[in-house]
Amino acid sequence: MKIGVLASQGAFAEHIAVLKKLGVEAIPVRLPRQLEGLDGLIIPGGESTTISKLMKDYDLVSGIKQLAEEGKPIFGTCAGMILLAKKIPGSTVEPLGLMDISVRRNAFGRQNESFETDLDIPVLGEKPFHAVFIRAPLIESVNGTTEILARLEDSTAVAARQGKFLVTAFHPELTDDLRLHRYFLEMISGVK
Ligand code: GLN
Repeated sequence: MKIGVLASQGAFAEHIAVLKKLGVEAIPVRLPRQLEGLDGLIIPGGESTTISKLMKDYDLVSGIKQLAEEGKPIFGTCAGMILLAKKIPGSTVEPLGLMDISVRRNAFGRQNESFETDLDIPVLGEKPFHAVFIRAPLIESVNGTTEILARLEDSTAVAARQGKFLVTAFHPELTDDLRLHRYFLEMISGVK
């Protein structure tokens, strides 16, 4: 199994480290040819404006959309979730528009710019998932076949899945809990 991690900007090295811990081949993707032969792709957190610009400058947009068309799973965390969304009301960021969610950037305001909390994520089992939020977006609404996988206590949606697309508003690569990445690998192998 070979997984690409979009390495234009942001927390790509951490995702690669997690994938290596799980024993799969993980490669940084900066150029279109590096998308060839991948079984899945992770779009990391970072700055969605910058990642979106670099994706365009390096001609990665059509290749990523093609991966999606081929049914290859894509996992977007934080800025990656923003980029997978169909809608980002009020933002000039141009997303890939692959997943039926509407997201709001920097949704928790200055007071709560960064916070950590334990989340219930039923698809991962009973043990709560310690989630790190950094200038995080939230999922405002979902459409179509999208399923919400986790909510904050005030019911804000912060993780979702639609078919082969998985998104989290937080950074699972910054903790030692490998369950979300393992879940993504199971989506790739077709177990989940
Ligand atoms: N605030 C960033 C954005 O809007 C996302 C932050 C993150 O990825 N940790 O792109």
